[in-house]
Amino acid sequence: MKTKNIEIVVAPREPHYVGDGFRVHNFIPSGYRLDMERMDPFILLDYNSPFYFPPTDKPRGVSVHPHRGFETVTIAYQGKVAHHDSSGNSGVIGEGDVQWMTAASGILHKEYHEEKFSKEGGYFQMAQLWVNLPAKDKMSAPKYQGITNSQINKYQLADNKGVIEVIAGNYKDVKGAASTFSPINMFNTRLEAGAKAEFSFPSNYNTALFVVDGEITVNGSKTVAENHFVLFENEGEDFSMETTKKSTVLILSGEPLNEPIVAQGPFVMNSREEIAQAIKDYNLGKFGYLEE
Ligand code: MN
Repeated sequence: MKTKNIEIVVAPREPHYVGDGFRVHNFIPSGYRLDMERMDPFILLDYNSPFYFPPTDKPRGVSVHPHRGFETVTIAYQGKVAHHDSSGNSGVIGEGDVQWMTAASGILHKEYHEEKFSKEGGYFQMAQLWVNLPAKDKMSAPKYQGITNSQINKYQLADNKGVIEVIAGNYKDVKGAASTFSPINMFNTRLEAGAKAEFSFPSNYNTALFVVDGEITVNGSKTVAENHFVLFENEGEDFSMETTKKSTVLILSGEPLNEPIVAQGPFVMNSREEIAQAIKDYNLGKFGYLEE
């Protein structure tokens, strides 16, 4: 198998707030290098780098808003976030947990810091991805997968050098916890200093990694710092990473859907007409009801 080389390393941009509870660096979509078509099916990545939120009685977050046509995946590294949606699903995720919310035909939801976390204050660190849905599934029923860390299968590296948490897809013989609509691999790799891990994905899959904590060397040569995003070329299959210190790395690899992407705000569909319909349906209250 051929080595998969780095296409580009992207530094974090200045953070902005989503609501008042998520202070994020946006990586996807940005520019032509990391636009939705290039990163398909990963159409958004916002990362809240570790940030201290002081105690408050009124939980911070994002109030009721709609989504249609894709899934939101929230990965908690520090802090706790609560979710409620108009299809009746709710849940709280904390450190190491994942919330995989399928908006599909449409939901309203709100995302807030969990109440006790808000009252005590603390460090908050989280990633949110938007995963696009195939055209045939965009209008399917909404779904919610609250995945606790203990439900995530883990591949143990030799000599206690770390674990690869398989959120979705497969790592060697370890199967992912989340069900997906298209082939997707999503791993949280938690490595000790001096660890080495190897990965192999089909060359046509769009493949990237994000250094959540620590520092890694990719393919034995390129050092990548914390908070940096690496996009790989769509050639070759295999890459490796090594650590000189304890590190956490999010690995993403998915088969591109190769369908037209038309995105507007919280809606991601395949045509202008479908976007117009989403706005119309939202205004008609067809996404249900959710109390603020
Ligand atoms: Mn949302």
